Amino acid sequence: MSARRDEILKELGLWPVWRLREPPAAETTAEATNPGSAGEASALQEREAGAGGAPALPKRSPSAADAAPVLPLDARAAEIARMDWPQLKASVAGCTACPLHKGRNKTVFGVGDEHAEWLFIGEGPGADEDAKGEPFVGQAGKLLDNMLAAIGLKRGNNVYIGNMVKCRPPGNRNPAPLEVAECEPYLHCQIELIKPKLIVALGKVAAVNLLKREASVASLRGKVLEYQGTPLVITYHPAYLLRSLPDKAKAWEDLCFAVDTMKNLQSTERVPI
Ligand code: URA
Repeated sequence: MSARRDEILKELGLWPVWRLREPPAAETTAEATNPGSAGEASALQEREAGAGGAPALPKRSPSAADAAPVLPLDARAAEIARMDWPQLKASVAGCTACPLHKGRNKTVFGVGDEHAEWLFIGEGPGADEDAKGEPFVGQAGKLLDNMLAAIGLKRGNNVYIGNMVKCRPPGNRNPAPLEVAECEPYLHCQIELIKPKLIVALGKVAAVNLLKREASVASLRGKVLEYQGTPLVITYHPAYLLRSLPDKAKAWEDLCFAVDTMKNLQSTERVPI
């Protein structure tokens, strides 16, 4: 193991005592016991108020986009599904389909390699992301970058990072079902354009909204699931991991599982039929 990798694993709190555990048993963490993901939510609240978090910016002034008519969801979804990257980016930038647009400073479209094999999906922008217009740039983002580095990945290099919603939910609350529903056509189109081999859902909000069923992260880890035909694995949200150090080891297991899954997907693709 290289010195660099040791450093990364130290940062993840996994070195030098890391070892694989038994398959996940019943969880006792806040995330596992509270379907509303209280641990993650409080971490998100802390991120908003706490060290390294960008101060909340003044709300932007209403613009002409606020008055633009919004099509019914089905019609919007069909229209969005036909978009290319520039059209999609422009559409997100001007989106007024749900109430989240009223409080945003910047839309957070997503970032990375537009032909990536890996797609990581979080729940939605926080204060730092709303200020910068890029996903996962706060404390949780630093941890995500370290998690990626631990498995030999780098933001932007065969990796794309996005969110369930592209505007910041006020107070870093979870996005509401209507907000997710209105934003999902954008994510769906991104996935169609990227064509990732594997999606990694970060946290319960991304997981349950992609899977369209209620479940704990603990019960979903270690399985290859599916989002609209693309293989999907689940792990904990980095903001939750910042508060729940013991679960970092489980996240490491999940990352190893994701790497194995990716290897399988890559090797399956190479086998001639
Ligand atoms: N948390 C998320 O889920 N997404 C971000 O972009 C930042 C923090």
